[in-house]
Amino acid sequence: MKYIEPHGHMVSRTTDDYERISLAGCVALSEPAFWAGFDRSSAQGFVDYFDQITVYEPMRAAKYHIQHYSWLCINPKEAEDMVLADEVISLIPERLSRPNVLGIGEIGLNKNSRNELTILEKHIELAAEHQQLILVHTPHLEDKLKGTRLTLDALEAHPGISPERVIIDHVEEHTIQMVLDRGFWAGMTLYPDSKCSIPRAVDMLECYGTERIWMNSACDWGHSNPLAVPRAILELKRRGHDEDYIENIVFENPKAFMSQSGKFRL
Ligand SMILES: [Zn+2]
Repeated sequence: MKYIEPHGHMVSRTTDDYERISLAGCVALSEPAFWAGFDRSSAQGFVDYFDQITVYEPMRAAKYHIQHYSWLCINPKEAEDMVLADEVISLIPERLSRPNVLGIGEIGLNKNSRNELTILEKHIELAAEHQQLILVHTPHLEDKLKGTRLTLDALEAHPGISPERVIIDHVEEHTIQMVLDRGFWAGMTLYPDSKCSIPRAVDMLECYGTERIWMNSACDWGHSNPLAVPRAILELKRRGHDEDYIENIVFENPKAFMSQSGKFRL
């Protein structure tokens, strides 16, 4: 079955992984800017990283007939250094017109600190000013509930932001309802053994419906599986859901959200 991987950190993946996801049915993916597994020492590191996800990864993906899109920001883990964060944010506007850039992301909170919140607000302002879509990272474990609330409040406080143009990723059972009720999109990141597993994600689909929801694998530098979405498709089939229901979640939904950018094409 064809599907879209809407949140994959392909810079940390091999070409074999591109081949595997292509064989599994992936036709397009989007790559949010994130932490590289280490703190970069200067803004120059982000100049190179932004080139990597806007110029080089699309070429690598094309060899496997996958359309590659990306999002730009400084991630919350490195946003604690506000001088660096301001420098990186200043690099973004001139790069937003690159053909594969869908918006600002993945922005958000990690430890819910004051500095992270300030940099989140600056990214929200940037997205509003340039009419960009937003992809949000929410904190994990004990920081998730409070961090999700703070993030939704910050988004709603800006008059230039429409919730249907924002996806809140890494939702779990205790945050998905508030995200959907407040009009945002919700992303479920599928992890192999911690946080949101495939069975839990499918449970949530069965409880909360499929409107404004997508699933992704993250497939970053840490323990993760680039085939998580196809594995979720298998779990949905095992539970008796039909092809239209599944295709809606793994293909039509991410296509609908990302098409709002005007650049997403298949
Ligand atoms: Zn990510």
